[in-house]
Amino acid sequence: MAGIELDCPTQAFIAGEWRAADNKQVFDVSDPATGEVIASVADCTASDAQAAVDAADGAQPAWAAMPAAARSAVLRRWRDLMVEEADRLADILTRENGKPLAEARGEILYGASYFEWFAEEAKRIYGETIPSPASDKRILVIRQPVGVCAAITPWNFPNAMLARKVAAALAAGCTMVAKPAEDTPLSALAMAELAERAGLPAGVFNVLPTTAPAEVGEVLTTSDKVRKVTFTGSTNTGRILMRQATGTIKKVSMELGGNAPFIVFEDADLEKAAEGLMASKFRNAGQTCVCANRVFVQADVMDRFAEIVRKKVAALKVAPGLEGGSQIGPLINAQAVSKVETLVRSAAEAGACIVEGGTRHAAGELFYQPTVLSNVSHEMEIAREEIFGPVVPLIAFDTEEDAILRANDTDYGLAAYAFTKDLGRAFRVSEALEYGMVAINDGALSNAAAPFGGVKQSGLGREGSSHGLDDYLELKYILLGGLGA
Ligand code: ADP
Repeated sequence: MAGIELDCPTQAFIAGEWRAADNKQVFDVSDPATGEVIASVADCTASDAQAAVDAADGAQPAWAAMPAAARSAVLRRWRDLMVEEADRLADILTRENGKPLAEARGEILYGASYFEWFAEEAKRIYGETIPSPASDKRILVIRQPVGVCAAITPWNFPNAMLARKVAAALAAGCTMVAKPAEDTPLSALAMAELAERAGLPAGVFNVLPTTAPAEVGEVLTTSDKVRKVTFTGSTNTGRILMRQATGTIKKVSMELGGNAPFIVFEDADLEKAAEGLMASKFRNAGQTCVCANRVFVQADVMDRFAEIVRKKVAALKVAPGLEGGSQIGPLINAQAVSKVETLVRSAAEAGACIVEGGTRHAAGELFYQPTVLSNVSHEMEIAREEIFGPVVPLIAFDTEEDAILRANDTDYGLAAYAFTKDLGRAFRVSEALEYGMVAINDGALSNAAAPFGGVKQSGLGREGSSHGLDDYLELKYILLGGLGA
């Protein structure tokens, strides 16, 4: 197996220092491909969280006051270090998360693209002047940083989900305390090390690895020093965090679960639609919030499309992420595998046909075979729940109206996909889908220039694009009076 020695800090990063947890406890991080322990990491609790909040609060005024060009330069250096160290960061990411090394490297470069984007945006936080109703007054609007931000991030993109929060927050002049997921704390710590090398002032960015997310999260969401909570993860956890944040009226950004419809119309290029589906469905073994979760195929082309997809899925290489050519790595943990297993079993019991895969994979305990199910109905649990695994459920539909109705029949509203060559249909469907993001004739929609985010119970706020900065800024209206002659 390839891979270099794991070269990554394991202590908490607070106030510009690498620290053991207050209580000196550590926890093990293991490689999901092998089960092998790869690091012992500081296990922070409430007192560490308080120290990190105090550090971020202390660093806030000077960071906000720094000229935008200087903040931008630090972010740019941080970005350059990520690109220079992409191989090492990818190795760490694959070891803790399991995804194929090529995907991990892609994630690092994708994360770096947010630093590049927001390093540029930092210099363009423009204000406004508004025509005043009185001739002796002027109305000015400036945009100022929200203040200390708490970021809680998931395990499925341990680098990129953090990158797009921290790059935007720091560009805006905010400081941050980040709590990575317990399965994947190392990528966040590796980012903190690069921040130090990029010259980020102490306290501007702090990282708290922990196996006590609720305890640490409570400090972060209730402290009156924290002005904003930004979260990516499940809708249930998002609800808890929002509730906790109400006491101190914090701003919140929430990037939550999805149940993405992927609609293939009879007029689509079926080969391209299948390629799009592979790109959308199988990244990170199907463990992304924008993964195609329900694949609606117009009845007339179902058999042809199913066969194209089956062949592609059968050809996927399932192997540990560090092994050359791996396309599908392990799922993150035992709970994830048993969830996928249960969903597939209950779909089969309810009448779905297993066209490909359908069981665990021999590569290791946490591997699941890439799977295609046909004859799935919209009422089955597998079509209602976020699968978070390498399973394609094919659901037939008859008309455009029928497809839209069913696609929208969910509490979620993150990403949606449709394949059609009909321009009118492309517009009609894009506008009718109740989703924050719609991709037409493409299976990959996320990039730093575009506003990423959901509607309904998929979240609040946007990440990336100029809108991504707004989430970290407050408007201040300044009235200049007494200007008459
Ligand atoms: P998943 O089910 O995908 O693991 P979660 O929403 O549970 O999604 O996890 C996403 C992030 O939220 C992780 O960093 C996790 O530690 C954190 N988390 C989970 N529960 C809480 C909580 N009660 N308070 C704060 N953070 C939490």
